Amino acid sequence: MEIIHISAECYPVAKVGGLGDVVGALPKYQQEKGHIAKVLMPFYKRPFMAENEFELVHEGGMWIGNDWRHFDVIKEKNNKLGFDLYILEIPGLLHQENVYGEWNDSERFTAFQIAALDWLNSWQHKPDIIHCHDHQTGLIPFMMTQCFKYASLKNIPSVFTIHNAQYQGQMGWDKMYWLPSFDNWKTGMIDWNHHINPMASAIKNAWHVTTVSPGYLQELMGSANGLEPLFRQEAGKCSGILNGIDTAVWNPSTDDMITAHYNLKNFVSGKRKNKQTLCDIFHLDAQKPLFSFIGRLVDDKGADLLPEAILRAINETNHHASFLVLGSGRGEIEGALEQIKPHLAGEYNSFIGYNERLSHLIYAGSDFLLMPSRVEPCGLNQLYSLKYGTMPIVRGVGGLRDTVIDFGDPGGYGIRFVQPSIEDICHSINRGVALYQDVKKLNDLRRQMMKLDFSWDTSAQQYIDLYKTLK
Ligand code: ADP
Repeated sequence: MEIIHISAECYPVAKVGGLGDVVGALPKYQQEKGHIAKVLMPFYKRPFMAENEFELVHEGGMWIGNDWRHFDVIKEKNNKLGFDLYILEIPGLLHQENVYGEWNDSERFTAFQIAALDWLNSWQHKPDIIHCHDHQTGLIPFMMTQCFKYASLKNIPSVFTIHNAQYQGQMGWDKMYWLPSFDNWKTGMIDWNHHINPMASAIKNAWHVTTVSPGYLQELMGSANGLEPLFRQEAGKCSGILNGIDTAVWNPSTDDMITAHYNLKNFVSGKRKNKQTLCDIFHLDAQKPLFSFIGRLVDDKGADLLPEAILRAINETNHHASFLVLGSGRGEIEGALEQIKPHLAGEYNSFIGYNERLSHLIYAGSDFLLMPSRVEPCGLNQLYSLKYGTMPIVRGVGGLRDTVIDFGDPGGYGIRFVQPSIEDICHSINRGVALYQDVKKLNDLRRQMMKLDFSWDTSAQQYIDLYKTLK
């Protein structure tokens, strides 16, 4: 089977969050299962582009509204990612470093989708599956079936995976003139709430829709940033497939971004060395249990709760815990996390920004990983932390509920709480501090976590099985 994944992110070319990790890994595992999996993504001015060799495979041009845009498709020459990687360049539109957050995101990603289909339309043969990811590719299933110029793509099954339904790419109907022509009476197929809504459009038009965990799909029926009725209506063609982790990248016994490698046999000393490095860098006391947070500093992740929760937990535990935060996002949260620093020197520190290498060291060197999310479609952080023997402390929501069992329950290995509140977070931190005193129990639990199998193998097969039902 030949599958083409179309996505705004792909690790290691450009990653903002879990979408990048998934699109950088899933195709590799599909290739290993004997299929041809390719990725098409937009160009960003990133080191990967300068450090690797590319060849031109297609040149095209398209109208986006009144503007004629030239575009190139280039292919990475040396199979660096374990699958064919194609990059779409549109001079003047796709040339920034940032993946998101440009003033013209709607135009950039609409143009990306049109150029992507123009390119696929030009292929001599056709892929078996077009697999789109998140709203930046959400208009593709509609355009494939309804835009006159893509008639040759009409019968190819499209799969749309929702990594996060909070972001929907909504834009005004005045942007309709960007799209290639289709029957005007079909506008309802891309409309939601009197706007063009790429996420809603994909749910309506894709042959099949998946979410990145089964629990998240259930939650979307009741809470989906306005799309709840649509999810309920289309439930029959939706399913949840849990993300996996790429063990070639996330493995404490081979990870070259950490200080000391470790495995099931020597994790106690291995983790201690990584923790020491981390504590030296951030001036923390390595004797105390270390609670960390990694992620986008947004309310969905519960990051707004961190400053007060950290302050309170340090007092409640009588200064028996250390805290470290890595992330960037909403300015006020970044500011609040910086503001508490002078009061908590030696007990709390943060790195405001994005740092892949540091994230690996934090997974390896921390004792506990905090995830007080309000919304969590799958969550990869808890899966990485389990693999690195770091106990996740999670709010039971979405994929977190699907993957973390409280150590107080049969077979459990993590800490789970109910409300995204300061009280629940502090209570869980107190439980962590108490557990830290019970060295044998904590180490038994660490061993148990590290043995869990959340690799991509099973999930990649589930996608293949799904594609087969659509052929
Ligand atoms: P989301 O996609 O909602 O941001 P996920 O849990 O699915 O959340 O994936 C987050 C990914 O992004 C993980 O690989 C995590 O380690 C990484 N990440 C998030 N913020 C940072 C950061 N500031 N620096 C390095 N890695 C980060």
